[in-house]
Amino acid sequence: MTPGFAAFLYLVSGVLFILALRGLSHPTTSRQGNIYGMVGMGLAIVTTLTLTSAGWGGFLLIIVGIALGGGVGAYVARKIAMTAMPQLVAAFHSLVGLAAVMVAAAAIYAPSSFGIGAVGEIHAQALIEMSIGVAIGAITFTGSIIAFLKLDGRMSGKPIMLPMRHALNAGLGIAIVVLVAVLVATESHGVFWLIVILSLALGVLIIIPIGGADMPVVVSMLNSYSGWAAAGIGFTLGNLALIITGALVGSSGAILSYIMCKGMNRSFISVILGGFGGETAAAADDDIDRSVKLGSAEDAAFLMSNASKVIIVPGYGMAVAQAQHALRELADLLKEKDVEVKYAIHPVAGRMPGHMNVLLAEANVPYDEVFELEDINSEFAQADVAYVIGANDVTNPAARDDPSSPIYGMPILDVDKAKTCLFVKRSLGSGYAGIDNTLFYKDGTMMLLGDAKKMTEDIVKSID
Ligand code: NDP
Repeated sequence: MTPGFAAFLYLVSGVLFILALRGLSHPTTSRQGNIYGMVGMGLAIVTTLTLTSAGWGGFLLIIVGIALGGGVGAYVARKIAMTAMPQLVAAFHSLVGLAAVMVAAAAIYAPSSFGIGAVGEIHAQALIEMSIGVAIGAITFTGSIIAFLKLDGRMSGKPIMLPMRHALNAGLGIAIVVLVAVLVATESHGVFWLIVILSLALGVLIIIPIGGADMPVVVSMLNSYSGWAAAGIGFTLGNLALIITGALVGSSGAILSYIMCKGMNRSFISVILGGFGGETAAAADDDIDRSVKLGSAEDAAFLMSNASKVIIVPGYGMAVAQAQHALRELADLLKEKDVEVKYAIHPVAGRMPGHMNVLLAEANVPYDEVFELEDINSEFAQADVAYVIGANDVTNPAARDDPSSPIYGMPILDVDKAKTCLFVKRSLGSGYAGIDNTLFYKDGTMMLLGDAKKMTEDIVKSID
């Protein structure tokens, strides 16, 4: 295949990736988007294979690598629970980072195989690209591992605040830039590994101070980093597909991070620099009367079937309980009784962007009943019932009313403005951010303590 034709095919796969991103932006087109992405990736892989000059031995190694990696990927994707998706994404990002480090190491030890000069005579431009790729890759690798450990509950989600962490991070960042310059001047392998080690340390230091509630932004930010690492290495390898894909992942991840920052009222710059969201949870306010009104499935059935408008607010607990099908059944019953039913989705409800939309789509909830926060928040004041099912942090009024709260400023769903707020969860425990929710103790709130699926099924039985 001529390099010109290969470049053309890479361009086609780039266009398919763009169509994939576009398709994935809405549940109705997401399957189509996935297909574009798969075809684009298949085309990029086949094109790359036809260009390889590795001989039969090398070719076989590549095929075995693809089969092994693809096999493990397919197995993990089939087995993984939806609730564990964010940590899986973080774990996969770490592999992208590690791959970038490995490729750069291979390039510095065997530059002629990559067409970037001989040992000791690597072109300066290639050295710069390689060192940027390796630094971002190493940061992504360890940063993603810490994010995985935090999201998977293997490490506390609480922020770890080192003294002078900003100075330390800035110092490491400057040291890495200086070392890149030294590497370009000397091509020293020792300096190369020093860049790797400092970047690995920086990855850990950037992520450990970030608190649980801010993790969604971190996951998307690491996604962006992994894209830039891939693009950097794409320049070293002279591989157009890698440059295009890396740039797409890098920029879309950065845009998503920005949108999420806005959604959580965080500053983008502080996320990029790390070390935010480290405030400790506000001490329990002793002025609050912590008595709660407990209700039963029968109470909820009575309130909902006599309502004219019910807004359902799903959260992480709905995903854990897999209550979406029971919820759909409840909504259908209510609609038969002429109750207007809508669903309100918070941008960070659940454990990954779009988590709730996917589950509701799985239960065939009509898309036109599902609304984003900004489109529905004003409607809670006219609702008779807000049915909060397994959501917690995304409804916490402290984010709106208590400046000392770690989540202050994050937009919330104003469920407390509905006439009655029915709150389904198993206990009075806190959500992901580890913060008490004062909504439990408000007059208009009725706690329905129990598993989300069981409680919803019991309500359905009581309405029938
Ligand atoms: P939360 O984590 O705040 O609360 C979920 C609630 O569900 C818990 O309080 C829990 O209470 C309840 N629950 C758990 N299992 C069940 C069950 N089987 N039946 C009934 N209830 C159950 O969830 P939200 O969706 O409100 O908020 C998401 C949080 O996760 C935010 O803090 C967000 O920042 C964070 N996050 C979001 C990500 C994203 O991209 N969307 C990624 C990572 C984190 P109990 O134990 O009492 O039952």
